[in-house]
Amino acid sequence: MGGSDEHIESMMHERRHFPPPRHGSERAHIPGPEAYDDLRDQAARDPEGFWAERAKALLDWDSEWDTVLEADWETPEFKWFAGGKLNACANCLDRHVASGRGEKTALIWQGEPEDDVRQFTYAELRDEVVKFAKVLKKWGVGKGDRVAVYLPMIPELPIAMLACARIGAVHSVVFAGFSAHSLQNRIQDCEAKVLITADAVIRAGKQIPLKTNGDEALEACPSVEHCIVVNRAGLDVAMHEGRDVWWHDAVAGDDGTDCPPESMDAEDLLFILYTSGSTGKPKGVVHTTGGYLTYTAQTTQWVFDIQEDDVYWCTADIGWITGHSYILYGPLALGATTVMFEGVPSYPQPDRFWQVVEKFKVTIFYTAPTVIRALMREGPQWTETRDLSSLRLLGSVGEPINPEAWMWYHDHVGKGELPVLDTWWQTETGGIMISAVPYATTLKPGSASQPLPGIEADIVDRDGEPVGPNRGGHLVVKTPWPGMLRNVYGDPARYKSTYFERFPGMYESGDSARMDEEGYFWIMGRLDDVINVSGHRLGTAEIESALVAHEAVAEAAVVGMPHEVKGQAIYAYVTLKSTFQENDELRKVLRQHVRTEIGAIATPEIIQFAPGLPKTRSGKIMRRILRKIAADETNAFGDTSTLADPTVIADLIDGKNLLG
Ligand code: ATP
Ligand code: MG
Repeated sequence: MGGSDEHIESMMHERRHFPPPRHGSERAHIPGPEAYDDLRDQAARDPEGFWAERAKALLDWDSEWDTVLEADWETPEFKWFAGGKLNACANCLDRHVASGRGEKTALIWQGEPEDDVRQFTYAELRDEVVKFAKVLKKWGVGKGDRVAVYLPMIPELPIAMLACARIGAVHSVVFAGFSAHSLQNRIQDCEAKVLITADAVIRAGKQIPLKTNGDEALEACPSVEHCIVVNRAGLDVAMHEGRDVWWHDAVAGDDGTDCPPESMDAEDLLFILYTSGSTGKPKGVVHTTGGYLTYTAQTTQWVFDIQEDDVYWCTADIGWITGHSYILYGPLALGATTVMFEGVPSYPQPDRFWQVVEKFKVTIFYTAPTVIRALMREGPQWTETRDLSSLRLLGSVGEPINPEAWMWYHDHVGKGELPVLDTWWQTETGGIMISAVPYATTLKPGSASQPLPGIEADIVDRDGEPVGPNRGGHLVVKTPWPGMLRNVYGDPARYKSTYFERFPGMYESGDSARMDEEGYFWIMGRLDDVINVSGHRLGTAEIESALVAHEAVAEAAVVGMPHEVKGQAIYAYVTLKSTFQENDELRKVLRQHVRTEIGAIATPEIIQFAPGLPKTRSGKIMRRILRKIAADETNAFGDTSTLADPTVIADLIDGKNLLG
């Protein structure tokens, strides 16, 4: 083995497929396969013409661009719509107010306590943003300044982001579940001038202090001059004289004047956002104004088929890219109604998401496989007591969705009718890259379908040569797209080496995938997680999906462990559904199950039952930690700051020791 022949082996071939629904297609943005084929052809023939047309159709520009695209893969440097001017906030709010949507609901906020609901029309949301934009200005924030935002899922979060965009400041949102130390690193990295935070986070009925983390972080952040604090929970907090101010005091006595949106260059920074940190130290991904907004508006319109009367809910936290692009910028750029939820899926009980769907008659619902698997574990009965008939589309993002989880979502939430759109993308890509479109694509459970129009993705070997159908390799993108990252903040060398060095003229995603004979993409996992058993290189997703396909299994993670003969053997961590018992008999059954599902080579050497898996705070499995535990290297886990629940590590080590 070796050379360009060294591909990643695929063993699983899902055969089920689901044609697109007819009902709803009459008014869809892309009404069927023929219309879709035409659009793809157009985009492939003239990508710049395609994106220019989309940018004009979707956004209001203060002045038009000089060039659609300037691309230099070598430096690397990419500019979209250079010379064009626009403001992201004006595109998300003002223009909708001006065009008669002022009274339409822009944002529905459901707090964790059932009675905490706030709804904002486009006009109201604009007013709130204007008020806060003036506060920022008054505190010395101007165009190009960075603002760190460390807030729970409350309306002040999108208001603060849009206020930054309005005055041309760059927001850097840090997920409120991160520690003081993680916050500090991120503030230091971008040298923010202001920190916006809250007294506390409300989560699963508890109050978790947040301002104290802010204080601790600011002990070593000389760039921060002011800290603005939202009163979310009524917690008594220490206010630092001269530095800290309450949000409600800052906006009180507003004089009612406007704060006209700053006309920004298309390539001016809109925000910085750090990746989830599943594989290592998070990267400060930089997105700019014109390309990002075009791309998020475009993908929201085509993938979710947003219509004027839709109530659209993405369950992500705005602290992640999914929330940036698909709670905030995409839906608001289109003038849609977007739902924002403060709580968690399992509190007070596992029907909370469905209760929110019922309450607001949500039509489009976008969540993550980790949520689906957690709810699968609790059983389908929780989906049955709520009225889910308003739903018409379901989406998934964040990890590969195992075919069995896809089927569960489709059957129990979608009542066997609704399309499940598996959307593959990354913080770096700004928006969805590979996905079905609901009324034009035949779905295959476990596949993200095809690249969207204007996206040229491929699977290549380590020499950058296409591997051809049904062989696994590196997932790359071969042409620039408007939503692509423009830099790693303050670290152009890392920008180049991570994404553009290995394969000249291509963007390297870091994921492995295969393409089937119909051009459908199947994500196989992260390249860092590939397991090498006796010279066979195996992705994690297929083996995990085979495990999840067993009725007893809710979730599974596989890693390679050192093995004298095979080089590596497969070590599987398995979480059972709540009604099944952990025992040796089941271990045997599961090994046999994988063997018959996908073959002897993929049979786990060891199965450890694990009530919890190490996940990032955005819900992704961190296999690098599991790899260390499997190899008994339990003294150096590397950067664990992005880990959601550090106590699972000790439990897993105990579990391993019990196995002997
Ligand atoms: P880091 O880059 O710091 O390790 P991360 O990759 O987890 O963190 P994100 O940008 O939040 O940070 O996640 C993008 C990754 O999530 C993708 O590269 C892919 O591995 C995974 N992913 C997202 N959506 C899908 C999907 N639909 N199918 C399979 N994998 C997905
Ligand atoms: Mg990544």
